[in-house]
Amino acid sequence: CGICGVVGHRPATPIIFEALRRLEYRGYDSAGIATLSENGVIDRRRAAGKLDNLETVLKQSPLSGSTGIGHTRWATHGAPTETNAHPHAAGQVAIVHNGIIENFAALKAELEAKGRRFVTETDSETVAHLLDNYIEQGMAPREAAFATIGRLEGAYAIAMIFQNHDGLLIGARHGAPLAVGYGEGEMFLGSDSLALAPLANRISYLEDGDWCELTREGATIFNAKGDTVQRQIQTIAFMA
Ligand code: GLU
Repeated sequence: CGICGVVGHRPATPIIFEALRRLEYRGYDSAGIATLSENGVIDRRRAAGKLDNLETVLKQSPLSGSTGIGHTRWATHGAPTETNAHPHAAGQVAIVHNGIIENFAALKAELEAKGRRFVTETDSETVAHLLDNYIEQGMAPREAAFATIGRLEGAYAIAMIFQNHDGLLIGARHGAPLAVGYGEGEMFLGSDSLALAPLANRISYLEDGDWCELTREGATIFNAKGDTVQRQIQTIAFMA
């Protein structure tokens, strides 16, 4: 139900966790965070129930890295369990997803026929497998992301991270909101300006069908056809 993503120069986990707190108002049943560790490996922590449960897990077993994604889930497909909580991982990628992938059953069948094994009951896990399938075919992250969103039907805001690609975050929106936050040497993705407010006072709202590639230096935004587009950067006033 809420998404946050960070490519920064300081530990990502506390930043993402606090953003998830600011997204709590939307309602949720479980939550999770995935980061890329310094050696380029994706690791994740998830918990059913309140963010306090995720906080306990993170205290017991911290997550390092300055690139990461987080999610608060409002389950539509699959019970609100830890296994079904986002981020979902497959091979070399991890993703978070808000919304519903309407054609997930057909995509899942196609991917299972290729030997991929699904471990959750969610529609969202399909996105992780589809993306990893394209990476496995030799595509670069940007190319794989574009190929993936071209196959998805339904409503989504998605954030993706890639093994061995520290400092890279790809986002996409179609029927669910997603905004880009501009920091100093760090960049953010969030479901709304509230998630981003204390992090970045310059924000671009993605338009429907847009997707974006974020590095620590900035954002490249594309439309549904894959053309680079400019989206207005708004300055947001907020009370700390
Ligand atoms: N459809 C997804 C799920 O059930 C995402 C739900 C959400 O937007 O939080 O896991």
